[in-house]
Amino acid sequence: MHAKAASRLLHHYREHARALPWRAPPGSGRQEPYRVWLSEVMLQQTTVATVTPRFLRFIERWPTIETLAAAPDEQILAEWAGLGYYARARNLIACARAIVARGGFPSSEAELRKLPGLGAYTAAAIAAIAFGEDAVPVDTNVERVVARVFGLADRTEVRAAAGAWWPVGDAGDFAQACMDLGATVCRPKAPACPYCPLRADCRAAALGTPELFPAPKARKVRPHRFGLAWWARRDDEVWLTRRPATGLLGGMAALPGPEWSDERPAANPLAVHRHGFTHFTLDLLVVRVAEPIGDGWWQPLADLADAGLPTLYRRAIEAALHAERERRLAA
Ligand code: SF4
Repeated sequence: MHAKAASRLLHHYREHARALPWRAPPGSGRQEPYRVWLSEVMLQQTTVATVTPRFLRFIERWPTIETLAAAPDEQILAEWAGLGYYARARNLIACARAIVARGGFPSSEAELRKLPGLGAYTAAAIAAIAFGEDAVPVDTNVERVVARVFGLADRTEVRAAAGAWWPVGDAGDFAQACMDLGATVCRPKAPACPYCPLRADCRAAALGTPELFPAPKARKVRPHRFGLAWWARRDDEVWLTRRPATGLLGGMAALPGPEWSDERPAANPLAVHRHGFTHFTLDLLVVRVAEPIGDGWWQPLADLADAGLPTLYRRAIEAALHAERERRLAA
């Protein structure tokens, strides 16, 4: 029964696959590993709509893994700015250089897994989509589809079910078929079961409760932290610095400031920007200072978009500029 369902899903994918810039048409064989790798790294925690224009810019600027590996860190980090989760960008750089150093992409999941910062899912996705290996990449979309088809609430059982279901010789197309179905039809809320090619074989749909599969993850309460950002202005410029290479937002342009802490600093900020990271939330207090603090450079406000600022600092600067305007108007 499930083999027939797999073949129906593949057929549906070959008729209705989303056209994505990193994807070759279904059934056209293996895809370019550089494009598969880059898109998979960008798509972690980020939507297709956000990634698409950024992917195209990356590919235009660095059309091959060799050109990307040869680019300066600062340029890549600046191009990544706004995509968030900057550890991904640093891993991307390390991984690109390791691939070029070894003479190209490895073609097996096991070898891909040895590359720096390349996790189990990404290794399986590249092996299946770019090299035709019978690997089983399970992202959240795939997990949801498999959990529902097999009626599995327990996520730990989903991987085994996926491995048993995956059609031999069609791993890449099947992975993309599941990803597309999860993104467009088998959505987390209100799945469109009447239009689903798996409707006849889906246990969760038969039970009438597809949204209960898989069981929701327990939500963790995120701790709250505080940071100071020094605001030094000179005419139409602001003093920026580069964060240390390692750690959160490592190597990115930033407003200078001390390390973040769990205690709210005693300061009278010009502006406060609240930001959500995966594991904590942060109040960044932007505080005026008369002179620049630490190493850095004067960045023209007119060219802020070229500074490669991550969203946290871009928004904090917008908040500070807004507060300055308000104060001027009130004076
Ligand atoms: S029938 Fe419904 S629940 Fe089952 S896979 Fe299709 S969309 Fe998802």
